[in-house]
Amino acid sequence: MSRFICDVCGEEIFVHEGILTWTRDNETLSNFTLSHKNSPENRCQPEANNRFKDLYTLTMITGYLDFIKYLIERWENGFTLKDADSLERVLQQLNMHMNEKVIMLTEEED
Ligand SMILES: [Zn+2]
Repeated sequence: MSRFICDVCGEEIFVHEGILTWTRDNETLSNFTLSHKNSPENRCQPEANNRFKDLYTLTMITGYLDFIKYLIERWENGFTLKDADSLERVLQQLNMHMNEKVIMLTEEED
């Protein structure tokens, strides 16, 4: 399985210790960051970010689709995306994970 890498410290994140955070203000979504959850060992969560989703939820198809739906709904409501690179980096990691998950499911059926 591909590994999740923390945008902040660069170390591996295990699914249960990861969190996606971002900033939502009146008009924009920005600073999407996949990181370790704050814990005694890690202080990786960007403090300014005011929205979050557990990585565990995002690795399930339903949670992943809910997140995509959230983005589409915000854009429908006129929100804009600031620093699109941050979202792109997060989606790349998630997409790779989803892709492997689908391949594994397909192979099990053979
Ligand atoms: Zn970290």
